Amino acid sequence: MTDHIASNLSALRARIAAAARGAGRDPAAVTLVAVSKTFGEDAVQAALDAGQRVFGENRVQEAAAKFPQLKARYPDLELHLIGPLQTNKAREAVALFDVIESVDREKLARELAKEMARAGRRPRLYVQVNIGEEPQKAGVAPGELDALLAACRGLGLAIEGLMCIPPADQPPAPFFARLRELAARHALPVASMGMSGDYVEAIAEGATHVRVGSAIFGVRPRPPAEPG
Ligand SMILES: *Cc1c(COP(=O)(O)O)cnc(C)c1O
Repeated sequence: MTDHIASNLSALRARIAAAARGAGRDPAAVTLVAVSKTFGEDAVQAALDAGQRVFGENRVQEAAAKFPQLKARYPDLELHLIGPLQTNKAREAVALFDVIESVDREKLARELAKEMARAGRRPRLYVQVNIGEEPQKAGVAPGELDALLAACRGLGLAIEGLMCIPPADQPPAPFFARLRELAARHALPVASMGMSGDYVEAIAEGATHVRVGSAIFGVRPRPPAEPG
């Protein structure tokens, strides 16, 4: 059931390295976040056995069911939250995740600052940008990014980078380029962009993190449920 994962991972790593070199970039400058949402612990274990250590999940509840035991066994496992976060789950997210990629509003930033102070644990934070300004999409509007970053600074939150999901129905490269420009303008070192279908384009535009799920684990067994 999980035999394909090691071979998918090694093929993907080779393609990521080739894309980086093709763009004149150091392959080591691109981190692969393996998106394991909807897949079980056995799939994550197969990826761990193949040397993968950075994982992404889009729901707090699902990650909380899957990862605490694995994190206890693999101290270098790094878990990213890549889905929308409700303020009432901020405490659980701060306890579980090493990186929260979906900070997108001041109210959430305030809640995270409070829970980080309470827990004495400081996950690294990225701001999610609604780069295509799509009404149905999560993320701060590009025009409101400056204000959100300033609010985060005011709360004592260090933001490491930006994350985006470009519109599904348009060529992604210009959106990736725009995210990279926004990150550069704010001197943020991280740009998390690119998924199974477009990581090559994202790397060409400067992605430091690509979030890839189905190209590693296969077609997802069930559609993602509501955010959480
Ligand atoms: C599911 C998901 C991914 C991975 O998508 P694939 O197309 O399976 O690679 C990346 N980023 C986010 C935010 C996701 O929700």
